[in-house]
Amino acid sequence: MDGLAIILSGLVGLAVGSFLNVVTLRWPRGESIVSPPSRCPSCETPLRWYHNVPLVSWALLRGRCATCSAPIGWQYPLVEAATAAIWAGNVAAYGLEPQAVRAIVFLTLLLAIAVTDARFYIIPDRLSLGGAVLGVALAFLPGPPTLPESVIGAVIGGGALWIVAILGTMAFKKEAMGGGDIKMMTMIGAFLGWKGVLLTIFLGALLGSLIFVPMHLTGSRRLVPFGVFLALGAAATWLVGPAVYAWYAGTLGIA
Ligand SMILES: [Zn+2]
Repeated sequence: MDGLAIILSGLVGLAVGSFLNVVTLRWPRGESIVSPPSRCPSCETPLRWYHNVPLVSWALLRGRCATCSAPIGWQYPLVEAATAAIWAGNVAAYGLEPQAVRAIVFLTLLLAIAVTDARFYIIPDRLSLGGAVLGVALAFLPGPPTLPESVIGAVIGGGALWIVAILGTMAFKKEAMGGGDIKMMTMIGAFLGWKGVLLTIFLGALLGSLIFVPMHLTGSRRLVPFGVFLALGAAATWLVGPAVYAWYAGTLGIA
């Protein structure tokens, strides 16, 4: 893949990441993403365009508001850099092919969901259900997944987590998982198919336990943002899923 396409997609990714910072702050609070224009959350001074250049502004301002010097969170440059890496990395990996589009849309959605869930314990429907519609729509492009695989994956994704939620509620006598996680898994199934659903839930639960069981034992009562771990599990499944399915089929002697 030629370098220019990779650099350009990285720059588009930076701009998208900057937009994601607005979306992930405003959608969970039910605010418009168009107005009011971006302002400092501390002194409410509207930002000038040159305070809005991804990464560069944050670095030049050394992470502080130009007017009141209130610290600007690490989230901003981190989300911008991660989005740029997703866009440039997938164009480098797949070239300008349908699979690059699918990977970019999917991983960008997962990043946005992980941020809103970590910050607010909310997964906006526009990302989960909107993402599920996008996943099925992208299945019209050459796959994998094919269109039937995508639709079945969405149904099984939502259904599997719905059952986990019911069992969890019975076991813990309180709501163990929210509707946001169920809708998010519908989206993941639309992009990964049913095998990806199973691997994502397995990896997400494993990662979540590895981090939250020790925290719980040391007395922390922080809520588990399970969507963050599902997002990590789904991103890992996108990368290693096909190799894992082939290995698993091999151990069962069916491949
Ligand atoms: Zn300020």
